[in-house]
Parts: sequence; structure tokens; C-alpha cells
Amino acid sequence: MLDAKFARFAAVILGLCFAASAHASLLTKCLKWLDKKEMSAMKFESKFKVPNSEALAPTEPEIYVPVEVRTDSRGSRGLFAREAIAEATIIGRDGGTVVTSTADAPIRTVAVLIGPGLLLAPNDYDNLEPLWFINHSCDSNAARIGGLVYVAKRNIAANEEITLDYSPLISEHGDWKLQCECGSANCRKMITSKDWQNPELQQKLWPEWLPFIQEKIRR
Ligand SMILES: [Zn+2]
Repeated sequence: MLDAKFARFAAVILGLCFAASAHASLLTKCLKWLDKKEMSAMKFESKFKVPNSEALAPTEPEIYVPVEVRTDSRGSRGLFAREAIAEATIIGRDGGTVVTSTADAPIRTVAVLIGPGLLLAPNDYDNLEPLWFINHSCDSNAARIGGLVYVAKRNIAANEEITLDYSPLISEHGDWKLQCECGSANCRKMITSKDWQNPELQQKLWPEWLPFIQEKIRR
């Protein structure tokens, strides 16, 4: 059984892990370690939850194509296509709990921006839905449109990992950074909350920026 003391300890460890490296694979290792510590009692009700948040985003995520969470060649968990997915196919629709901050969350880094000052967080940090396992790639094959809908940007082969560009997921949110080792030819090495200011990325990722970021870019 997990007690509150361990929950706090685990949150600190995860925070340290992420702060130390800001690297996705290390975070995955931390998550694996926590899995072993039976985090099943870590049910969490954020004090930052937005009242009537169902009006802003669906509570339950949905997936429309066969996918599964697998461990990739680097030892990180990721979301993979079980069958080929054609370009423009809707992969899924996000859902979760809308919060204004993840400062009190057990795993602070698992949340995505859906609007100015609004983040979508998992309903249950101990039982993450598959869409939360989509890793970043600087040459991503999927896009998150309007902050909620996941679409294939090109044909995705069976057994290929589904990836997103994280820059639009966290644009203008604090000083968030991710050191990237995605291995793609166009890897940017560092992904940050300020990437929306990069003219090349503004164009390349245009459909993926949230509407309020698109307005900023247009100005
Ligand atoms: Zn990269």
C-alpha cells in the first residue's frame, strides 16, 4: 500500500529526474522504477482542476485505430501502430482533466497545453491512457490539431512508432525545455516553449499550433 509520504517522495524523485536531464528516456526509466513501487494507490485530485472542465475538453480520451504501448529500441515506452495508418487518418481524441497548473501533480511533466493557461492532465497518473505515451520526434508522423485531435501527417507503417512534435504541446508555458535525441536528420537538439517564435517552425508546424499561438504568430 502506498502512503502519502511515499507519494511525495516519488513526486520529488520524478521532479529531480526530469530537472536533471530534461530527457524523455530518463523520465521513462523513472516511471518504470515507480511502477515497481506499486503506485496503484496514487489517485490524485489536483487543487488546480478547473471547475466544469468537461466544457473545455472531453474527460475520456478515445483511440480510433489499432495502437499499443511498446518499449522501443532505446528502452523508452512509446505508442506504436499495430496496423498501417493512412495519411490524414484521425488516430484519436484527447481527454483528461483540465488544470491551470501541474505544480501539485504526482508526475509534473505529463500534461499538455490546450489553451492559454490551461493544461490537459491525465485523469489517473497511475494508469496513463495510451495517447500519453506518444514520444517527441523532430520528424514527427502525427499532429495534434486544435489541442485535442491526433491525425496522421503521413502514411504510418505497421509497427512504426507514432510521434508528435512537442513544441506545440507546451508553447509559451513557462521555460519548459527538452533535450532531444530523436535521431532524425533534422533534429533540433533542444525543444522549448519558445519554439513557436521560430519562423521556420511557425510554417512547418502551422496546423499544430494552438489557436491562441496562431493568433500570436499572425500579429
Ligand atoms: Zn530531435
